[in-house]
Amino acid sequence: MVEVDSLPDGSPEVQERPEDGVFILPTGYIDGHGLYHSEVELAPVNGKIEAFLADLRDDTYAASVVTGLLARCIKRIGALTDIDASLVRNMLVSDRSYLMMRLREMTFGRKVDVILQCPDVSCRKSMDITLFLDEMRIERQPLLERCFTMHLSCAVEGKEREQVEFRLPTGADQEALASVVHLDEQKAIHCLLSRCIRRIGEQTDIDEAVIGALPESVRSEIEAKIQQLTPDLEIELEGVCPECQNAFSAPIDLTAFVMTEIRRNVRHLAREVHFVAWYYHWSEQDILALPRQKRLRYIELLQEEIERHN
Ligand SMILES: [Zn+2]
Repeated sequence: MVEVDSLPDGSPEVQERPEDGVFILPTGYIDGHGLYHSEVELAPVNGKIEAFLADLRDDTYAASVVTGLLARCIKRIGALTDIDASLVRNMLVSDRSYLMMRLREMTFGRKVDVILQCPDVSCRKSMDITLFLDEMRIERQPLLERCFTMHLSCAVEGKEREQVEFRLPTGADQEALASVVHLDEQKAIHCLLSRCIRRIGEQTDIDEAVIGALPESVRSEIEAKIQQLTPDLEIELEGVCPECQNAFSAPIDLTAFVMTEIRRNVRHLAREVHFVAWYYHWSEQDILALPRQKRLRYIELLQEEIERHN
C-alpha cells in the first residue's frame, strides 16, 4: 500500500513555483516507508557544485553525473530532506530527466540554442534552432506503485497470455547500463529488461539469457509497456533545412545536452573565483557558495566599475 503525503497533480494545491525552485515530479517518488512524494525543491547550481563537476573524469557516465548533480541540488522531496545519491538512484528515469531540465532553466535560463544538421547526406547543412524550456509540454502521470503486471498478447514457449511482473527503470538502472548502452543497444535493452522484469509466467529467475531467448515481439511489448508508464522526456525538434528545404525532425537528449553545457562553462570557474576574490576579498568558499547566476552578476558589476574608471 502506498500512502500519499501530497495531493495528486492537477489539484489546485499542488503548484510549481519556479521562482522558489519548487517543482512537481511527473511521476513521483516513493520512499522506504511507502510514502509518496511529488514536490521537489531545487537549489541553483553554485560554484561548489561546478567544482564537483570540474573534478569528474571526462569519461564519467552521464547517468552517474546526473546522480551526483541532483544529490547536491535537491534540497527536499516532499517531507524528505536527507537527500543522498542512493535516494537519487531510486528515482524514476522520467523524474530525473525532468529535474535536469528544470535545473538547466534555473542555471542558464529558459532559452536553449541547439545546432542541428540537415539529415540529407548530400546536404548536411548546419542550422540554429531555439527552444524555450518553459514552453515544453510535460506529460504528468503520478504513479503510486512501482511494480506492475501485464498479460502478453503473444505466446511464450507455447503458453498463451503469460503474466509478466516488472518494476519501472530508475537511475540505478541507468548507471548499470551506462557502460553498455553506447556499445551495443540491443545488449543494453536485454540488460535493462533483465533488471526490471521480476517474473514471466512461473519463471522468476530472470537474467539476460532468459530475456535474449524471448521472441523479439515479446521484448518489444514489455518495453513499450514500461515506456508508456514512465514516458521519458523526449524532445523532438522540427526544422526545415534552409539549403534544400527538407523538412525533418530530430530528437535531442536534453540531459546529455545540459551536462555538456554545464561542464563547458566550468572551465571558467577558477578565473571567475579569482576575479571576484581579487576585488571583494571574499574567501574562496564564500564565492563558490554563490549561485552561478549571482557570481556572474557580481563579475558583470565589477567589469562595469572597472570600465568606468578606465
Ligand atoms: Zn538540407
